[in-house]
Amino acid sequence: MTATNHGLMGIVIGAFLPMPLAIPLALLSHFVMDALPHYGIPQKQRNTSKIYKKVVAIDTITALLFAVLAASFGKWAMFWVGWVAYSPDFMWVISYFRHNNNLHMRPKNFITKFHKNIQRYERPWGAYVEIVLFLLLLPTTLHLFLT
Ligand SMILES: [Zn+2]
Repeated sequence: MTATNHGLMGIVIGAFLPMPLAIPLALLSHFVMDALPHYGIPQKQRNTSKIYKKVVAIDTITALLFAVLAASFGKWAMFWVGWVAYSPDFMWVISYFRHNNNLHMRPKNFITKFHKNIQRYERPWGAYVEIVLFLLLLPTTLHLFLT
């Protein structure tokens, strides 16, 4: 699942649920969303696909933009719960930098294997699921920022 959709789901959870209840539910949302069909291409193609690299770059910039927006509106619970909802994917970010910007993830321990296995419905057509989810979360998020 894209960082943007994980973050937006966390923002919504942070707006509607009190602390500390929002924290475990944001983490749970991450794994539920990763188990849904979503965008992805085969691991072996990730380092050579220009489209995949562009999607990752645009997703990263968009997710960071929403974090900046949450902070600029002073929505700190939404800001932090958004990061919590995204946080399991830091294991991929660390792996990416540790292996010289390698997008081909090779799970090595129980938690990374679990995290990869639940994403078995990662497909290029999953982009449509991501877009629908984004279009549902976007107006809710913008409304929450402005109220
Ligand atoms: Zn994930």
